[in-house]
Amino acid sequence: MKKQGDLLLPGDELSIIEEFTPGEGTYEYEGKVYSSVVGKAFYDMINRRSNSISFKKPGFLPLKKAKYVIGLVTNIKEDSALVSVYSIEEKPLNVPLTGYIHISQIANKYLNNINEALKVGDIIRAKSLNFSLPLPLTIKQKDLGVIYAKCSICGTKMVKKDEEHLRCPNCGNIESRKIALLQVKKGGN
Ligand SMILES: [Zn+2]
Repeated sequence: MKKQGDLLLPGDELSIIEEFTPGEGTYEYEGKVYSSVVGKAFYDMINRRSNSISFKKPGFLPLKKAKYVIGLVTNIKEDSALVSVYSIEEKPLNVPLTGYIHISQIANKYLNNINEALKVGDIIRAKSLNFSLPLPLTIKQKDLGVIYAKCSICGTKMVKKDEEHLRCPNCGNIESRKIALLQVKKGGN
């Protein structure tokens, strides 16, 4: 099997489908996944997909120009959160890209624990620091962070209490998050 980031030519074998299903820039033939483009191997460990990210892929150009991406927090480790990026700005991706946020890229203040700012299942607005895969994301900026979160007690969609806390309208539970503070247009109530 190829390694993460290996150069691929069309027809190069990426995996067998039992290990990784075919993703972006690939095709399946007789139980194996092959690259259909000249690109770079990307094994998505979360979704168990093998992808061949084309060097010419137009999808990466919007990513470079994008003001933000939208993703789902899928796992939290000691020093980073894993994110499944499913949309570039408002444009959904056919195949989600894996990203991660290092603890130092979450807030401007010191965090003891990522769970003070993010939880699995949160939907976030983030920015990519560069375009290698998995995407290194940041949510430090004021307008980046959690845009949707569910109460960890009862599952209700939480509402903003203040700049750092969400409140559950159902059970009253309060949780802290790095909340995306989106600018509200002035003038029109
Ligand atoms: Zn609740």
